[in-house]
Amino acid sequence: MSKLLTHDEADYCLDILEETYPDAKCELEHRNPFELLIATILSAQCTDVRVNKVTNEMFKEYNMPEDFANMDIHKLENLVRECGLYRNKAKNIKAASNVIIEEFNGEVPKTIDELMTLPGVGKKTANVVASTCFGVPAIAVDTHVFRVSNRIGFVSEKTVEKTEVALQNKIDRDRWTKAHHLFIFHGRYCCSARSPQCEKCSINHICNYYSGE
Ligand code: SF4
Repeated sequence: MSKLLTHDEADYCLDILEETYPDAKCELEHRNPFELLIATILSAQCTDVRVNKVTNEMFKEYNMPEDFANMDIHKLENLVRECGLYRNKAKNIKAASNVIIEEFNGEVPKTIDELMTLPGVGKKTANVVASTCFGVPAIAVDTHVFRVSNRIGFVSEKTVEKTEVALQNKIDRDRWTKAHHLFIFHGRYCCSARSPQCEKCSINHICNYYSGE
């Protein structure tokens, strides 16, 4: 196993990433927790840019749980078709809207555990909504967070679940949410899957992947 960053090195690395990406934040456009929930469900295996394009149009007319709970499923499928996996996503949006109305008085629940009771909402989606909208510290591990944190050497894990736990142990709780956004920005704009731009990377001097460890 490669040498992992110590707690202090991890802190130092996050400091640099904060300087590199001062505007790192959730890039799914939303005006309230329900819109972010829908956008996050739609973002599975789809880019935020495409999701924003779809939701910008859809939310002009439909942005309440009642709108989707009562909508004809084929109509909903057409609205979200561009995001891919549209049958499953439409089914989950409709079902989650129903549960929000029936179990949570029409309000998106605030805890990760409650969020995960909604159809189509796994740990990653629950983490994104709880941390972004309700200030719950969380590290949602998506493909960028998984790749970047393992490459740098914050952790050395084979699964998303183990990566989340290891990151929680390595990073102070009050930095979890910010770290999540920083890893995503770094993965999007520098440390891409196929061609990481190591030469111009602001943290290459402490990166395991770059040093070959
Ligand atoms: S040095 Fe390369 S592999 Fe390491 S974080 Fe930077 S871009 Fe990614």
